[in-house]
Amino acid sequence: MNLHEYQGKELLSSFGVRIQRGIVAQNADEAVEAAKKLTEDTGTGWHVIKAQVHAGGRGKGGGVKLAKNLDEVKSIAGQIIGMDLVTPQTSAEGKRVHQVLVAEDVYYPGETETSEFYMSVLLNRANGRNMIMYSTEGGMDIETVAEETPHLIFTEEIDPATGILPFQARKVAFNLGLSGLAFKEMTKFVTSLYKAYVESDSSLFEINPVLKTSDNKIMAVDAKVTLDANALYRHKDLAELRDLREESPIEVEAGALGLNYVDLDGNVGCMVNGAGLAMATMDLIKQAGGEPANFLDVGGTADAARVEAAFRIILKDPEVKAILINIFGGIVRCDRVAQGVVDAYKNMGDAINVPIIVRLQGTNADIAKELIDSSGLDVMSATEFQEAADKVQAVLA
Ligand code: GDP
Ligand code: MN
Repeated sequence: MNLHEYQGKELLSSFGVRIQRGIVAQNADEAVEAAKKLTEDTGTGWHVIKAQVHAGGRGKGGGVKLAKNLDEVKSIAGQIIGMDLVTPQTSAEGKRVHQVLVAEDVYYPGETETSEFYMSVLLNRANGRNMIMYSTEGGMDIETVAEETPHLIFTEEIDPATGILPFQARKVAFNLGLSGLAFKEMTKFVTSLYKAYVESDSSLFEINPVLKTSDNKIMAVDAKVTLDANALYRHKDLAELRDLREESPIEVEAGALGLNYVDLDGNVGCMVNGAGLAMATMDLIKQAGGEPANFLDVGGTADAARVEAAFRIILKDPEVKAILINIFGGIVRCDRVAQGVVDAYKNMGDAINVPIIVRLQGTNADIAKELIDSSGLDVMSATEFQEAADKVQAVLA
């Protein structure tokens, strides 16, 4: 589950990570009030107005702007709220902005230069350890840095038994070329950041940029936080931060029905049990010249009620021209799944307006095929993977 920048920053701050202070606003007037309050507290007078959407690259899309006075706060906030922000990480239609973060400008000139760093905390799946990835090249795409100057990206792996050790925090500060106060600040920053990551059961923190201010403080200017959805039961307060407006409505509905569904752009709906088989099925559809319309794992109990729920979700996508059901009957017998398909189909009647191809393999596959073939419904059965793909191709042609 992803958090908004302002929510991520609040989480970090609660663990002692220094952040660029800010207040979230739902409209231009609230933005002005927020700016006034921040000015009272810190007094720089300049503010940055930042679109709060679940996508990075907002700066490039015009979703992050500097306001030099309250009039500019009002006009910029008014312009950003309600816009469809297009960034390199959104679709071409963009994402509707419902709120902005009004933050104090922390790039003000001082005795020394400001610098931007990159820092993330994530799981290295190769060895099952968390690692801190960081770079002197902050503020830009880390993908570009990785491509062009990979030697400027450092990693520090953390032993889960000890957590981050003081020498590791010092190594990070040293590799980032810091000294004096900024060095000390960075060791504190990275230590609290790691603690926040572990204790919130996050799966990704990406802080880009981490800023060294002109008075040598180290703070998070941006925050991308992804929480591990499987651990949310331990964090009721964090679970409440979910913003359904940022998610696809079909995915939200599928989630409520207990279906693991991801919306895609193609024309072949998929209903599969098991995530691995679902991925393989999507490959198969592509190979046969189609494009998967979705990823859908119906889980272990593919009974009539679940199959029907899955049909309804898949058919909400108007692009769907055929549905491929690919079920491996191991624990759940194929004949029961086949009966579920037949019952769901009969129950839905005209709501099903595209051809259905069913491939059932495993326990009682032959009885299942018989059941489908004798049902009199517009459902094609297949036994082999390739046969199913060919049938999909035939109905799309
Ligand atoms: P992103 O584009 O979605 O990654 O959003 P960021 O929060 O990273 O903001 C984009 C860029 O805006 C940053 O890389 C900074 O260079 C700039 N920025 C952010 N906060 C401030 C600020 O307080 N003052 C100034 N002048 N620039 C800022
Ligand atoms: Mn950023």
